[in-house]
Amino acid sequence: MKIVERHVIIFSIAMFVTAIGLFIYLPFIGTKRQFIVAIDIEELCRVDVDENDWEYVVLHHSATDEGNASNFDRYHREKRKWLHGLAYHFVIGNGKGSGNGEIEVGERWKKQLHGAHTADMDFNRISIGICLVGNFEEDNEPTHNQIESLQSLINYLSKRYNIPKSSIIKHNQVTQKGTACPGKKFSL
Ligand SMILES: [Zn+2]
Repeated sequence: MKIVERHVIIFSIAMFVTAIGLFIYLPFIGTKRQFIVAIDIEELCRVDVDENDWEYVVLHHSATDEGNASNFDRYHREKRKWLHGLAYHFVIGNGKGSGNGEIEVGERWKKQLHGAHTADMDFNRISIGICLVGNFEEDNEPTHNQIESLQSLINYLSKRYNIPKSSIIKHNQVTQKGTACPGKKFSL
């Protein structure tokens, strides 16, 4: 085989591989960036009252396919008869009921009140409750946007209140009668 012929063959193979590579990669161009959630966490978490000495962050799922802070607030107020309503301090939407990755701030956070998100009332006084919409024990997994928002929120809260990583826990790690919350499909 002449050297020129060999070069032509190698060049053709290289072009073919490049074309295949582009074919596989192209559908992903442009979809990556749109997942980034731009939120001013500091502004979102600002409160006008004295801040509590928060020591823990507890992560929950809503155990529902959809929902938002006001749905859960109504449920906690009317069905559970909790005076302060929404048990959590923050709710992170999955796109069904509120924005995908949207962080909703509960009244309990704005007033720096204890949550009602675990069965241990003493623990509720020192722990921030964050709920991700979805049933991660059954059909759903947290969305990319939810995890991104959650990570930003945790970063902010852990810095502001000096909460170590070991104190950012799942609901099922709080000592109490068994709960699956936040579900087996949840991981950070
Ligand atoms: Zn929970």
